[in-house]
Amino acid sequence: MYTKIDLHTHTLYSDGALTPCELVQLAYKNEINTLSITDHDSVYAIKEATECALDLGIELITGVEISTDLDDKEIHLLAYFIDLDNDELQKYLQFFRDERIHRAKRIVKKLQNLGLKITFDDVLDHAKNSAVGRPHIAYAMADLGIVKNYQEAFEKYIGDYGPAFERKIHVSPQSALKLINDAGGLSFIAHPGFMKENLLMSLIKTGVDGIETIHPCHNENQIQFYRGIVNQYCLLESGGSDFHGGKKMDNENLGKYYISGNQLDAMRKMLQKNNA
Ligand code: AMP
Ligand code: FE
Ligand code: FE
Ligand code: ZN
Repeated sequence: MYTKIDLHTHTLYSDGALTPCELVQLAYKNEINTLSITDHDSVYAIKEATECALDLGIELITGVEISTDLDDKEIHLLAYFIDLDNDELQKYLQFFRDERIHRAKRIVKKLQNLGLKITFDDVLDHAKNSAVGRPHIAYAMADLGIVKNYQEAFEKYIGDYGPAFERKIHVSPQSALKLINDAGGLSFIAHPGFMKENLLMSLIKTGVDGIETIHPCHNENQIQFYRGIVNQYCLLESGGSDFHGGKKMDNENLGKYYISGNQLDAMRKMLQKNNA
């Protein structure tokens, strides 16, 4: 009986490398029996993965990773147990994916102004139907020979302080939290290890349901620190591998970062309370 619960993974519907079914199969091989696919701004993978998951006896928990910003810093929120057919959620995700396309075009324009030979179609070759992001631009740049590799694209051009960087549109954590609540879901602060403590505290005051304590970027001290905050503020705990696959070379993370059945039960209890 497997008991690994991984609530943070990506497929090629955002910046992951695997199809939903390939991800489910790899999760199964790594002894994961409960999985949430949390693509950035897309839930397409979940329905596509349903049959494979059923075949292998893996429980899928609906999920999505939403980008917001606070004090000029990008904050990722994870949503679980959302109703995939919720109209407002669908509308928002479509709007945000469209905005990602506009932003990718602005980045390509900046790259062109720097004298580089790249078009938006080159980026689309990599993004296909997914929520287009900088990783797709980095892959395109590497393929075109503009940079040595994926990493160099970020270091020289499209990283947060690079000459071709463009921000995503502003979305407040409050509006994302309302969206998640209205779609019947629970909200979590993703990988808080990337943010300063004062931001974490203001997000907690905004009313998130929990914190992602388990993440490959968190060391043991951080896990204990975030657990302390969870206990202090009566929050829920989530976690997972943030697996993307492909050139991220993070295959070993799948099956290594997971939460316990008790933590998942606490989420279900909270849902019952919300619905009572
Ligand atoms: P986007 O959502 O389009 O801004 O892309 C964000 C993604 O780009 C992150 O999830 C990372 O996968 C990747 N990324 C951002 N900054 C870097 C960096 N400096 N080096 C490598 N990958 C990065
Ligand atoms: Fe990502
Ligand atoms: Fe993230
Ligand atoms: Zn993620």
